[in-house]
Amino acid sequence: MDKKLKGIVIKNADFGESDKQVTILTFEQGKINFKARSVKKAKAKLKFATEPFSFGDFELATGRGMPILTGCDLIEAFYDIRQDIEKYYLACSVLEFVDRITSDGQDTRREFIFIVKAMRDISEAGEDTKALAVKIFFDGLQSTGYGLPSVNCSGCDEKISKNVYFNVEESSFLCEECRGDNPALSIKMFKVLELIVNSSYEQLPQIRQRKEDYVAVLKFLHRYIEYKLGFSNRSLIEYIKMS
Ligand SMILES: [Zn+2]
Repeated sequence: MDKKLKGIVIKNADFGESDKQVTILTFEQGKINFKARSVKKAKAKLKFATEPFSFGDFELATGRGMPILTGCDLIEAFYDIRQDIEKYYLACSVLEFVDRITSDGQDTRREFIFIVKAMRDISEAGEDTKALAVKIFFDGLQSTGYGLPSVNCSGCDEKISKNVYFNVEESSFLCEECRGDNPALSIKMFKVLELIVNSSYEQLPQIRQRKEDYVAVLKFLHRYIEYKLGFSNRSLIEYIKMS
């Protein structure tokens, strides 16, 4: 039996001498693994359908065992991402994040929409992607249910101004009055995060902050993901190193 699925490649791995095992996230059927035969040669016809970020309609032959790739109509390849090392690692960190929060058989419509939008935003971004990276991860954590609910104080719902504290268990920010015995965060870092979170995607290119402040926010988000999801996002570490 054949089926056609709209999906985006999130990872691939060698499978024997000349094949690859590919994982796509689909809109209709969650996360799917398939085998792509003889795609390791440079001229292989379906090689493009095994590359990370390839977005298209995948044709799979299903039967016993893992489905086999038989065709693919490419919708978008996101070539811009492949040509820029910073964009490449940022996009990989998004794929890695989504791979870790999804499992086979799970409904992944939210995650699918999040990934495709993130790939478009990264692809169309200018040279500096750091504010976008913060926005993507903050929104991604929220839309997939792992957020960081708000940048207001979770105790009194007021805007946080002088000092900021973080309740790790509840993943929430607190003001001076509501702090309890929660640890402090850098207010400078927090203000950059708040500014980005409260800006629209269209406004991001106008945000000008110091590089080290963006890096501090990204490190905070990385640590947060590590704590919350129990894994270290290696592509995000590489991206932060490059920033
Ligand atoms: Zn408060």
